[in-house]
Amino acid sequence: MNPILSENRALRDIETVLLPGDPGYDEACLAWNLAVRQQPAAVAVPRTVADVRAVVGAAASRGMRIMPQSTGHAASALAGLPLDDVVLLRMHEFTGVEVDPVARTARVLGGTLWQDVVSEAAAHGLSVLHGSAGDVAVAGYVLGGGLSFYGRAHGLAASSVRAIEIVTADGELLRVSAEQHPELFWALRGGGGNFGAVVAIELDLLSFADVFAGMLLWDLSHGPEVAHAWADWTASVPESVTTSMRFMRFPPMPELPPFLSGRELVVIDGAILEDDERAAELLAPLRALEPELDTFARIPSAGLLAVHMDPPMPTPSVSNHSMLSGLPREAVDALIAVAGPGVEIPLMFAELRHLGGALARPADAALARLDGAHALFAIAVAPTPELLELGRRSTGAVVEALRPWSTAGNYSNFAEHPIDGATLFESEAWQRLVGVRDAYDPGRIWVAAHAVGGR
Ligand SMILES: Cc1cc2nc3c(=O)[nH]c(=O)nc-3n(C[C@H](O)[C@H](O)[C@H](O)COP(=O)(O)OP(=O)(O)OC[C@H]3O[C@@H](n4cnc5c(N)ncnc54)[C@H](O)[C@@H]3O)c2cc1C
Repeated sequence: MNPILSENRALRDIETVLLPGDPGYDEACLAWNLAVRQQPAAVAVPRTVADVRAVVGAAASRGMRIMPQSTGHAASALAGLPLDDVVLLRMHEFTGVEVDPVARTARVLGGTLWQDVVSEAAAHGLSVLHGSAGDVAVAGYVLGGGLSFYGRAHGLAASSVRAIEIVTADGELLRVSAEQHPELFWALRGGGGNFGAVVAIELDLLSFADVFAGMLLWDLSHGPEVAHAWADWTASVPESVTTSMRFMRFPPMPELPPFLSGRELVVIDGAILEDDERAAELLAPLRALEPELDTFARIPSAGLLAVHMDPPMPTPSVSNHSMLSGLPREAVDALIAVAGPGVEIPLMFAELRHLGGALARPADAALARLDGAHALFAIAVAPTPELLELGRRSTGAVVEALRPWSTAGNYSNFAEHPIDGATLFESEAWQRLVGVRDAYDPGRIWVAAHAVGGR
């Protein structure tokens, strides 16, 4: 018998493991990004720390590698990687949140989604540094840095992490913090899933229950005027303001509200951490452009998850990304030329997120800061191989058009395509990360979205 196959069969002793052909295997391998087909040697769906340790011990002793994944939002970063010696460790059944309202912290289990943490925090009048989509998992987001609409005021979500519980390559469960295993704690905040299976994360919460947030929406014919105005505006707003600007395209779909269905739009959205009067004063120059829809208002902070209108369910997609060192008029014109009104380009959206503020100030973590003034992200829906290829070309064209203003770097969470992991970090941090990987995973057992120091 093929030695790998016989080793795989031995994994059948582990209760949570499914092999190809087993009922439930295909479903357990499904990634959020439905354009990616994952066919690992085995998939495990643990529900406890003991389950995770059993899988790690069994896989490691058989010379197999382990790919932790919570939702598969970033599965496309691994597309094309042979998985015939890999156990996919799907954490989506291992979820739960406990909030300590006095310490203002949350303890979140390995596969928990942001929407669950946000609503649990909201029940105590607290908020958290989540991203735009509620069905992204805390683990992958925080391990990659975590860019929130509170980010310019409060920094990367990774800097709100107090402790991480992790099962390492030797099957040990470690509690990692600034005091315990500090080098691993430093590496995990930005260094991704290269060091073990994260089974719990302790996060600081934010002590407010509501926020001034929303979106402004225009027909894409207003794209040039709005994009230039937003670019100028982002150069002057205080750190309390974190927003994005997108050129969006929606096919006619009955499940979409009429203001989206079949429309091409320009949308500005985000959060302003100011009182209502000051927030309205800050928004005035954009409101003067007379948006067709203006939802900016004080809302319960849990409502921020709906503001960005991310796809509410698993979606086949392809994306591309870059970091921009600045956004002069010529850069905005280049975006308009490639994705603005009148251009036939099959994109769901081309987005710019405003960075800087606390996101740019160095923290003591592997991803110390986001190096760039704006992050560019382009995404296309890709339900067929032909549309995947077309989407790859279209999203690539957007990134290419803004190449003159791009840094050489990438942001892990927006790089949902295969990249050189070294481009995510400053060179000193990269060397240090490789050292931590050598110490905690010398056998290169872990398969992460973006590899540190080789797969
Ligand atoms: C609709 C949408 C909106 C988004 N909005 C934002 C945003 O506003 N800000 C932002 O920063 N990012 C955003 N992202 C990107 C998102 O944060 C990344 O794709 C992130 O990696 C997703 O984490 P996940 O755990 O859900 O995905 P997964 O694909 O499951 O995980 C990604 C990687 O994280 C690691 N990992 C995940 N879980 C574990 C674990 N338990 N133990 C060890 N390693 C683990 C693995 O290396 C894995 O390959 C968005 C993505 C989408 C699709």
